[in-house]
Amino acid sequence: MLFSKLASAFEEVEKRSGRLEMTDLLAGIYRESEATEARKITYLIQGILAPPYEGIDLGMGERFAVQAISSAAGYAVKKVDEDYKKLGDLGLVAESLLGEKRQQSLSAQEMSASYVYDSMLRISKSAGAGSQDMKIKLLAEMLNNSTPQEGKFIVRFVTGQLRLGVGDATILDALSFTAAGDKSLREGLERAYNLCSDLGHVASSFLESPESVLEFRVELFKPIRPALAERLSTPEDIFEKLGKCAIENKFDGFRMQVHKKGKNVEIYSRKLEKITFMYPDVVEAARAIKAGEMIFEGEALAFNEKKNRFYSFQETMHRRRKYGIAESAKEYPLYVYAFDILYLNGEDYTQRSYSERRKALEKVFPSGLFRVSEKKIAESSADIEKAFAHSLEQGLEGIMAKDLGAPYVAGARKFAWIKLKKSYGKSVDTIDVVVVGYYLGRGQRAEFEFGGLLGAVYNPESGKLETVAKIGSGYSEEEMRNFEEMLSEIKTPEPPADLEWKIKPDFWVKPKYVVEVAFDDITLSPTHTCGMKRDKGYALRFPRMMRMRADKDEKESTTTQEVIEMYQLMKEKK
Ligand code: AMP
Repeated sequence: MLFSKLASAFEEVEKRSGRLEMTDLLAGIYRESEATEARKITYLIQGILAPPYEGIDLGMGERFAVQAISSAAGYAVKKVDEDYKKLGDLGLVAESLLGEKRQQSLSAQEMSASYVYDSMLRISKSAGAGSQDMKIKLLAEMLNNSTPQEGKFIVRFVTGQLRLGVGDATILDALSFTAAGDKSLREGLERAYNLCSDLGHVASSFLESPESVLEFRVELFKPIRPALAERLSTPEDIFEKLGKCAIENKFDGFRMQVHKKGKNVEIYSRKLEKITFMYPDVVEAARAIKAGEMIFEGEALAFNEKKNRFYSFQETMHRRRKYGIAESAKEYPLYVYAFDILYLNGEDYTQRSYSERRKALEKVFPSGLFRVSEKKIAESSADIEKAFAHSLEQGLEGIMAKDLGAPYVAGARKFAWIKLKKSYGKSVDTIDVVVVGYYLGRGQRAEFEFGGLLGAVYNPESGKLETVAKIGSGYSEEEMRNFEEMLSEIKTPEPPADLEWKIKPDFWVKPKYVVEVAFDDITLSPTHTCGMKRDKGYALRFPRMMRMRADKDEKESTTTQEVIEMYQLMKEKK
């Protein structure tokens, strides 16, 4: 497929907000693409070069892109910079300057989508001495062959600004439409995706043969999309939903998925990034486990030996670092509470019941720094209540109730696990929002260039971010200073492309940070766009910032649908 075709489809997708229209457009692309190029085309749509666990990063800062635009369009770097200040989007700058090219290149060639992808991969792979010049040269070559529209999307892609607002769900729907003309094949596609976490791979296999996705199995060293927990607000509600169930403590650390084959060990984060190098202590302990082949999940917590208690979540997060790993491992030794097993010695455990998986888990653990989360069987809501009180007494954040008969529900939230967390004020739980903008300090806070955040949640149905709260309290002075510094670095003149908004902050920022927010209530308001219908969206009342969630990325905020469910829960509670 020609890249120009993809670029015009991107232009169309950007103009549409309806999920159906987007699905239609994408299905059109897939119908015309060869199975062999579908993997690359899918990554281009997602704005990535490979699934997160492969750790492939373009390593292309804005400065490189500015230089490449300057060289391809024949304008001075100063002019590119000035236009960037005016337009606030390097993609638009490339589009306008390539449209008024000073030197017409005689040798310009049409590019295929595969060629563009391969060139970007070459950019990402050039490393070492002279690599900066090489990256700029490769990008300039591509831009030299580009139409203004192609140039816009290439520049947005390489600078990490391609945000088409197409969610994974829309891509899966589009694939199903390609072969069946409707969503009927979506379930099989989704299952395949949840097992391998690689949409590109799913797309190319599916176009090759739609049945092939039904053959996908759990594989070692391909992370499985993590199962998620539902929330309910009382032990009674949980018992009503699950009946007799298992109750485990809910630990407040960070999630790890560990894959092991003999001495070969990889660790994946909740975001499915490979984080093995950060945890040599966990790797060593995993190597020592007797079982030869295994995939399991656990929650890692740092332990304060002097005080004989666990460190807080914030302190535990010191262990997520790229440098000074050995020192921090000494200062913050980890325990990992194993809570699920997904694969054992050649057998896929994801389809087995919780009870079976738990039995297998207890055979393998404890081992080294791995412990097993404590488990009780609740026969009544009073049992759940007791377990919950007990977990709070231990300083934990709550409990997880688990359906004894349920399989491991990869990538989804289906009442197989239900969390009950300590309440914050009147809210049933906290939510995690993506920061999309911020406000300047006013009154007593005028000394700060920071006075609050504008937070949004993610709507996987539409692939858009939707605002849900202006968070003006809950910050320590230090946090205000930190936010001021972190956010001023990612300011943008325009709102994020995939944000639906009605309220304007003092500054927009690139969606990057996720923060946890407590609140008193959820109300309907004309200013927020979360789940907006007939000019009213859902909004948090008295929102206050609790902490940063460095373990979550911008697509892992709470979803619009969860906010609506919480609204219903709180209404019932009243
Ligand atoms: P939340 O992030 O609040 O939606 O809660 C779900 C998270 O709780 C999971 O992603 C795990 O990281 C964590 N967790 C802590 N303890 C457990 C447990 N016993 N079983 C499952 N997940 C747990």
